[in-house]
Amino acid sequence: MKTLTVDLGDRSYPIFVGEGVLERAGETLVRLGCRSAPVVIADRRVARLHGEALLASLRGALGDVSVVRVPPGERHKDHGTLLSIYGALTRHKAHRDTWLVAFGGGVVGDLAGFAAATFLRGVPYVQVPTTLLAQVDSSVGGKVGINLPQGKNLVGAFYQPRAVLADTGVLRTLPRRELKAGLYEVIKSAAIASRPLFLYLEKEIDGILDRRPDALEHIVFETCSIKAGVVAADEREEARRMILNFGHTVGHALEAVTGYGRLRHGEGVAWGMLAALMVGVAYDRTPLRDALRLSGLIRRLGPLPRPRDVSFARLWQAIERDKKFRGTIRVVFLSRIGKAEVAADLDPDSLRSWLREFVVRKRIAVRRTHGRHAGARRGDGV
Ligand code: NAD
Repeated sequence: MKTLTVDLGDRSYPIFVGEGVLERAGETLVRLGCRSAPVVIADRRVARLHGEALLASLRGALGDVSVVRVPPGERHKDHGTLLSIYGALTRHKAHRDTWLVAFGGGVVGDLAGFAAATFLRGVPYVQVPTTLLAQVDSSVGGKVGINLPQGKNLVGAFYQPRAVLADTGVLRTLPRRELKAGLYEVIKSAAIASRPLFLYLEKEIDGILDRRPDALEHIVFETCSIKAGVVAADEREEARRMILNFGHTVGHALEAVTGYGRLRHGEGVAWGMLAALMVGVAYDRTPLRDALRLSGLIRRLGPLPRPRDVSFARLWQAIERDKKFRGTIRVVFLSRIGKAEVAADLDPDSLRSWLREFVVRKRIAVRRTHGRHAGARRGDGV
């Protein structure tokens, strides 16, 4: 097991990574200051697969732990589930010193974290992420929240956990598609911030896909270190933290227009990275050699699911909606492998035409453009 720290002054917290972290959860919580039985908010599927190890450890150290099971899936990251969590916390007589334990993927992490941020104006919580995406991304950094019918993550808070317990052993049961979705985020982090991790991924990608324990531990630890460093430098996403959004301008928009759930978040980000590479090369911000190298690594995971019934007009609308919230369309460009920069000064018309070109070449917007651009070669460019 390896440990690192997210350095945020008196709100700093440790991240534990490796096999066997679940079995030590009870003693870890006690060491961190938890004095009474916590309430575990668990993804129902994860509770069935891995609940025993976690609960035995927590019960051994802290007594009669309660469990609130929530149904899996993005559509349950909503106010209905949140209200049912508040109800269960009240029934279990949770008080200001009751710790919550978020046990599942990013959906449960965001939900339980938001419940912790708001119940009784804030109770302590720990993240026990069980998907690769949650271990390397959503559990670290304190962004928590729920979706509204009007859009994703529209209600939320910055609320840091007391610890992150990332047991890489649980990734053995993760469906392969979920593993790959998380891996796209790992690739993203390496591309924007760590050339050594990028080289490691190029060398070991097959071992990672085969879930070799040392390889999983390595990539989770290294990716968490990158995120921890960025979050410590810019907790509330005012500047530096934005580089983590590489691939997210188009990624988020694709997720939105395909009706959340058809594309995994990481798959949207992978499409978004490919788009940012092409645009980056066009704007002379990304060297072609680096763009080809990153797109080559993404391709080694196999073909990305193609969101066929998307029109470019709707995709662009979704990108513009983002602009409405933030005042500008920000695109993160890869400057070279291991480094990225944020650009907020792009002319929307030229950006629009480059993105349209990307969508046509990749045959994403098939419904509106297939007939006219049937000649566009598959896999053209990056
Ligand atoms: P998820 O939580 O929906 O989990 C994916 C699926 O995997 C679920 O069906 C779940 O039941 C199953 N699962 C989880 N762990 C398993 C295991 N060990 N074995 C077998 N099955 C398992 O999805 P996710 O990809 O982990 O998270 C996506 C969410 O994370 C989105 O809501 C997104 O908005 C959020 N997110 C948040 C942040 C942040 O900073 N807070 C960052 C990125 C993404």
